[in-house]
Amino acid sequence: MEPNDTIKTNFIHQEIDSDLNENKNGGAVLTRFPPEPNGYLHIGHAKSICLNFGLGKYYKGGTNLRFDDTNPTKEDTEYVDSIKEDVNWLGFEWNDEPKFTSDYFEQLYDWAVILIKKGKAYVDDQSAEIIASQKGTPTVPGTESPFRNRSVEENLDLFERMRKGEFQNGECVLRAKIDMASSNMHMRDPLMYRIIHANHHRTGNDWCIYPMYDYAHGQGDFIEGITHSICTLEFEVHRPLYEWFLNAILDELPERPVATPRQIEFARLNLNYTVMSKRKLLQLVNENYVAGWDDPRMPTVSGLRRRGYTPESIRRFADEIGIAKRENIIDVALLEHCIREDLNKRAPRVYAVLNPVKVIITNFPEGEVEWMEAINNPEDETMGSRTLPFSREIYIERDDFMENAPRKFFRMDVGREVRLKNAYIVKCEDIKKDENGEITEIYCTYDPDTKSGMEGSKRKVKGTLHWVSIEHSKQVQVKQYDRLFMDEAPDANKEKDFLELLNPDSLSVVNTCFIEPNYMDANSKFADGIQRFQFQRLGYFCIDKASKEDDVIFNRTVTLKDSWSKKKK
Ligand code: ATP
Ligand code: MG
Repeated sequence: MEPNDTIKTNFIHQEIDSDLNENKNGGAVLTRFPPEPNGYLHIGHAKSICLNFGLGKYYKGGTNLRFDDTNPTKEDTEYVDSIKEDVNWLGFEWNDEPKFTSDYFEQLYDWAVILIKKGKAYVDDQSAEIIASQKGTPTVPGTESPFRNRSVEENLDLFERMRKGEFQNGECVLRAKIDMASSNMHMRDPLMYRIIHANHHRTGNDWCIYPMYDYAHGQGDFIEGITHSICTLEFEVHRPLYEWFLNAILDELPERPVATPRQIEFARLNLNYTVMSKRKLLQLVNENYVAGWDDPRMPTVSGLRRRGYTPESIRRFADEIGIAKRENIIDVALLEHCIREDLNKRAPRVYAVLNPVKVIITNFPEGEVEWMEAINNPEDETMGSRTLPFSREIYIERDDFMENAPRKFFRMDVGREVRLKNAYIVKCEDIKKDENGEITEIYCTYDPDTKSGMEGSKRKVKGTLHWVSIEHSKQVQVKQYDRLFMDEAPDANKEKDFLELLNPDSLSVVNTCFIEPNYMDANSKFADGIQRFQFQRLGYFCIDKASKEDDVIFNRTVTLKDSWSKKKK
């Protein structure tokens, strides 16, 4: 599946179409995805990526990747690299080279000087706390700073000295001079620059003043010629400020451009049982609640990848949830549904037994091996078939046996028959227990006339079990994941901190898994090279990247039971 081959159009397409009809921007469409490199991307970012790159592709104009790197204390090249990797893995390519707001620092500084010269910006010597305390409330106007009416000359001098490093962190800031009584709080003389003496991951120690996001962002879009700046709803109230900055600058340009970036807002993704704030995700990583940003329980793109999600399933999810103007909460079961649907079609089936009990087929000759044919995926003939070794001693799931089972238990019990999938019907004759009453061996006989796929195998029994030949199977480790949070809305719980809502059983490690010998060559149909499988009757699993040749680890992506499909009915 190609990115966006199933794309649903949304209200943003309609807006862009109407701009194109009016021949705005000369018919061009250029979008951007502007992450701050202060963490790894999560599933909410994936929604934004699918939207922005999807629009760029749909209108054949492309999309810029721009790192909004205006806060050196929180940003790092590790994050830059992970973001690039994740965007590519999701199936998207940005125009040219990635862009960085830090590339525009000089230009932004020059424009700030222009604003000062026009009397539209001033240096304020008050502390951040004092400035905040003067902000007012939505109904009460703010208080003007005593430094608000400094002369242009004094402001120019101070701003230059800020840049030269003559002041300590927090000693002064540059503010826009707009309106302390505006009904829009963002227009009450917002900060434009602050002093941060810190090493920046790209500009090193060239700068000790850094532009605020609100000042840098709109100008960054303008510099790049972005036609449509798509962002989440919380930025709607910032829009007048972006327009104010840009208009003040544009008035001074020799030639005023015909079109400027148009901001369109959409509702962010909220998922139940998940936290999505980067601050909280960082805390989970730093305080070792998870094993890293790509821990398979994390809602990060790298976590989902390691968990076994495909890029196609995430794009499908983004398409399913759609783009709206109103906030809502999406059920994480929909995300799980999307990966099941994809893997059902593409993942080869293999036999693995997670919690084994030994079965001895007493009438099967010792030392003999019979190779059984098994198709790789009933959903896709082209995936062909493989052979499975069948022998006298096999493992089945401990759960698939029950002593004195009720009539409706269509699995194994003494005196009952079941089919071993792709092999024979066997009848359980006896069991052996240890001193604790735990079953150690199950004794069966097989019916040689019931080989799967052969004439004479027509005889039907209720219940089919998966199995592996003990001698031929390989032992692997399996990590089974459950939701990271027990609470449906860990972000919104008023009584408890999100850390108290972590699911203590979100990871269980199984060291007793035995898998059929073929899995390594099972023809995996995944372009990203990650091997994913359906363990028959158990769920979807993928090989973890930390696996070694003789020490293979599987991650459980999802179980087979689809709670989403059920909900829809
Ligand atoms: P923070 O959690 O620190 O507020 P952020 O998640 O907004 O940060 P950015 O790096 O600023 O991080 O995000 C990059 C882009 O991804 C932004 O344009 C933002 O609109 C979008 N984005 C972030 N979270 C979501 C979400 N949950 N749903 C949709 N888009 C999102
Ligand atoms: Mg943000």
